[in-house]
Amino acid sequence: MADKNNLQKDDVENEAEKKEIKINPIKNGVVIDHISSGKALSVAKILNIEKYSNLVTIGLNLSSSKMGLKDCIKIEGRSLSNYELNKIAIIAPDATVSMIHEKKVEDKFKVKLPKEVKNAIKCNNPNCITKVQNVETRFNVEEDKSMCYFRCFYCERIYSVDEIELL
Ligand code: ZN
Repeated sequence: MADKNNLQKDDVENEAEKKEIKINPIKNGVVIDHISSGKALSVAKILNIEKYSNLVTIGLNLSSSKMGLKDCIKIEGRSLSNYELNKIAIIAPDATVSMIHEKKVEDKFKVKLPKEVKNAIKCNNPNCITKVQNVETRFNVEEDKSMCYFRCFYCERIYSVDEIELL
């Protein structure tokens, strides 16, 4: 029964997404959807959107059957690197990414946190070697009770999602 409900919810969500893509289409580019509500501007910052000159649509607090409220960003003429996808996964772990080609969804996937994140997170421990020497930061991603934590490879300080600062 629970599965059936979920399926129906997914169908409703997919229909809503299809409508939204039709109403406000981008021709070629990327749609980052299911961003946790309030995090779209952080995602925009990761992607340097303020310096971007093509069409960008940012939706805040859109209603979502899965998430209650969600944010969404559509960017014309842009793709995402693995480095950017990792950074998005850190702050918006439920985000889905759709690659749009000629107004059609060519590829759609959920972001995924790697086991290790390199050069994406700052370690704020003043005694950490990354503060003293010019070495790239490395963090191991750990999960506990469905919460994500980030442990500095060098000094082992642990950060929750809310504590981390992206580079
Ligand atoms: Zn450290």
